[in-house]
Amino acid sequence: MSKIKVIPCSGIGKVFGLLARESVLMVTQEKCPNETETLCLAHVVTGDDEVVAKIKGARCITMDGCSKYCAKKSVEAAGGEVEHSYKVPDYIKPHRGEDHGTGTYLTEDGWKFVDELAGIMAKTVNEMQEEVK
Ligand code: SF4
Repeated sequence: MSKIKVIPCSGIGKVFGLLARESVLMVTQEKCPNETETLCLAHVVTGDDEVVAKIKGARCITMDGCSKYCAKKSVEAAGGEVEHSYKVPDYIKPHRGEDHGTGTYLTEDGWKFVDELAGIMAKTVNEMQEEVK
């Protein structure tokens, strides 16, 4: 079975974009490396043959930095099946008042938030795995 694709937006210059990218890396490299992989959103958008072949019809999770949903929309446009779409601001409420860093670096609180977001996606990955058993 092919791996679940987990794809973040490429929000540059905003801490929400960095939180999205780092949380996806944490899922695909640390929490669920055998079940998931990520793909470069720029390759998805530009229609890189290899990436499009991988994403067409694939089960996908996206993590966006804002309600413009660039990752979700781009993955869907490339033929990916976005089964779960997340966005960082939906999880910010309990973290109000914390300093998470900037678009280029994360503070300790920022990394804790990344771990929480990655945990949410990892739980989803496990549920998706269960669905096909
Ligand atoms: S979803 Fe928002 S933060 Fe992410 S790339 Fe698009 S505009 Fe930027």
